This record gives sequence, structure tokens and C-alpha cells, in this order.
Amino acid sequence: MGEIADRLREVRRRISEAAHRVGRNPDEIRLVAVSKTKPIGLIREAIDAGVTALGENYVQELVSKREAIGDPVEWHFIGHLQTNKVRQIVPFCSLIHGVDSLKLAGEIDRRAGMIGRRQAVLIEVNLAGEASKFGVGEDEAGDLAKAIAVLPNLRLAGLMTMPPYPEDPEESRPYFVRLRELQERLRQGGIPPERCSELSMGMTADYEIAIEEGATIVRVGTAIFGSRDDTATVHA
Ligand SMILES: *Cc1c(COP(=O)(O)O)cnc(C)c1O
Repeated sequence: MGEIADRLREVRRRISEAAHRVGRNPDEIRLVAVSKTKPIGLIREAIDAGVTALGENYVQELVSKREAIGDPVEWHFIGHLQTNKVRQIVPFCSLIHGVDSLKLAGEIDRRAGMIGRRQAVLIEVNLAGEASKFGVGEDEAGDLAKAIAVLPNLRLAGLMTMPPYPEDPEESRPYFVRLRELQERLRQGGIPPERCSELSMGMTADYEIAIEEGATIVRVGTAIFGSRDDTATVHA
């Protein structure tokens, strides 16, 4: 077995331990392997080792990798989606993690409707208010969720967040707690529970903490594929 298989096994072990620490069933947690910047060969290795969902954050890269690999896995879009690129991914994308405006949601709804699909989406919430990141503010999430919940070709599935990069994983915990509390408020505010059951939170630096705080989806790249030279990469 190769290095990827070993790393994947380690990540799964840690997911399991984190879940057990807080009395959760590890099967409730989906692992999205973030393959951005990584070549097809390594991605195939990961699929052979048991990865079932891949996450990409550039539309072109997602589309070309999916053309090469097909659908033995789910494809998740985890980046910032521009409205003019929606039509390229809606035909095959299992989950769009980063919806942060009604305009974008409307375009996804329109494109999904044209091809008879119902597209699952998450609302991205920018909890720290970082200018460098996308996402709606905590106070706007409720209105956006209500507006999205009535779009016929969208299926709102929950919330996603990406806190400031932590020096210490514990620094992320308060943000994960806040996303879970926001989910609770949305439910109390009338969003049906099945419309906000997913919490996509936690990356290599902090996925164990995210699981302790209720993540149902973790997005892990480096711990599976090794480090990225993000600066030198040309996106396919
Ligand atoms: C790159 C990325 C990840 C994975 O980051 P790692 O630190 O490599 O695990 C997760 N989520 C989003 C939105 C990303 O862009």
C-alpha cells in the first residue's frame, strides 16, 4: 500500500477517535478529500485507497479532473463560485459548499432546472468577518437560508465555514461552536431540520476539533495528499 493509503488510514483513525471522544458515530462524518493542485495519478491512488468524495476549489480544475476520472467518486465544489461558471459544474457536482448570495443561488437554481436536477448546496458563513474570505455574515445567513429554501431546484443542505488559519487547532473551536449555534437558530427560525443538517467545517489543521463540535463533513487535503506548493501551481 502506498503513502496515500497510509495517510488516509491515519485520517480515518483520527476522525473515528474524535467522534468517539464526544459520543458520536464516526459514520455520521463524511470525509471530502481535497485534491486541489494535485495530479490525476495521486487522485487515482486516493480513490483506490477508498476515497469517495473529492473537493476542488477551481471550476476549470474540477471540470478537467472529472473528465479524466469520471464518477467513481462524488465531486464537491469548495471554492468561490462565479455565476458565469455555474453551468459548468451543475451537471455533475454533488455538493456546492460555498453559496453566499441570492444571485448565485438563483443562477444555480436556474441552471439546475434547465437540466432537471436538484442541486445540493451549503451556505458559506464568514464568521470572523475576514475581508479576504467569502461568505455571508452570521446575521445574513438566516435570510439567505429562507430565500434559498424556496428555490425549487436547490436543496439547501446546511452550512459551511472556514475560520482564520489557526496557529493552534483549539483557536478554531469557537468558530465551529458558532456555526453549530447558528444552525440551531436557523432551525428555531423555521428552516426545516433536513434543510440545515450538514455542517461542513474542519480542514487538516483542525478537523478533529470540528468533529468534536458537530461537523458532518470535513474537508481534508494536506493530511491525505501531502503539502501543496500553492504559489507555484498553475490551475488546469
Ligand atoms: C484547500 C481547502 C481545504 C483543505 O485544506 P488542507 O489544509 O489542505 O486540509 C479545505 N477547505 C477549503 C475551502 C479549501 O480551500
